[in-house]
Amino acid sequence: MDVKPQQLPAIEPRHVDPHAYPQGIAFLDGQYLPMSEAKISVLDWGFLHSDATYDTVHVWNGAFFRLDLHIERFFSGLERLRMSIPFDRAGVTEILHNCVALSGHRSAYVEMLCTRGASPNFSRDPRDATNRFMAFAVPFGSVANPEQLERGLHVSISQRVRIPPASIDPAIKNYHWLDLVCGLYDAYDNNAETALLLDFNGNVAEGPGFNVFAVKNGRLATPATGVLPGITRRSVFDLCAEAGLVAEAVIVSVDALLGADEVFITSTAGGIMPVTKIDGTDVANGKVGPVTTRLKDAYWAKHDDPDWSMPVTYP
Ligand code: PLP
Repeated sequence: MDVKPQQLPAIEPRHVDPHAYPQGIAFLDGQYLPMSEAKISVLDWGFLHSDATYDTVHVWNGAFFRLDLHIERFFSGLERLRMSIPFDRAGVTEILHNCVALSGHRSAYVEMLCTRGASPNFSRDPRDATNRFMAFAVPFGSVANPEQLERGLHVSISQRVRIPPASIDPAIKNYHWLDLVCGLYDAYDNNAETALLLDFNGNVAEGPGFNVFAVKNGRLATPATGVLPGITRRSVFDLCAEAGLVAEAVIVSVDALLGADEVFITSTAGGIMPVTKIDGTDVANGKVGPVTTRLKDAYWAKHDDPDWSMPVTYP
């Protein structure tokens, strides 16, 4: 996919408090705005009921990574939630591109989202609301900080059950995050840095913004159900296929995770990130493992592959 808008839209210079919001550009109600001015009504169902879907893609070294897959997942979420927006895939691609180009960021966290919106008479019927599309580009952020990336994350297994797929289809990327946020606080109380939540049957599900993989005897396993089908998770499958490694989506028990040779998590916000401690105990020898390192290197190398990336044209 190659998008080169002829001309970038104008963005009005306005007074902005640079400390109040991350620097970046948003698209809202047909306008490109500084982040600090991208605001929505408190009557929007997205805010009142978490009635929204979204997707996040990153830009690395001035190029989008696997944007087509993120756009596809976003449109699938819109359809399943019966939302509609006045843009097609090419239109959304161009808006995201413009947000990044106008922001000037060469490494960015780029989000597209749609809320149910609000209705003029505060109707309780979601069909009366006007769906609202927004997008923004802010500096790239990662689940793991540089020190954690180097030595591996310390994770705690939460006693909270991840929202079951029978309640909310996790393939619709959503903001139902209270279980994940409470899990994070539980993790901090346990001197860990992030949390892993279990599913309704007590098997491993996912964490706040990431999927998880266990490596045992050179084979990779990741939870099959009850999780967002992450694009980074998909990239791991693609990289394993290229490298001749076996990767499967299966039931991952807590015992399988605790007994793994290596554990890593995956997210657009950070890529492939090692886990070296679970509930205070080392994973294997407590060091970042060779399969994780190999896949992580291959993942970042793919950012220069034209089949997996799309350059941004900056003004
Ligand atoms: N699981 C959840 C709940 C997420 O919110 C995310 C990303 O935000 C992921 C997994 C990882 O998905 P991706 O690799 O597409 O970023």
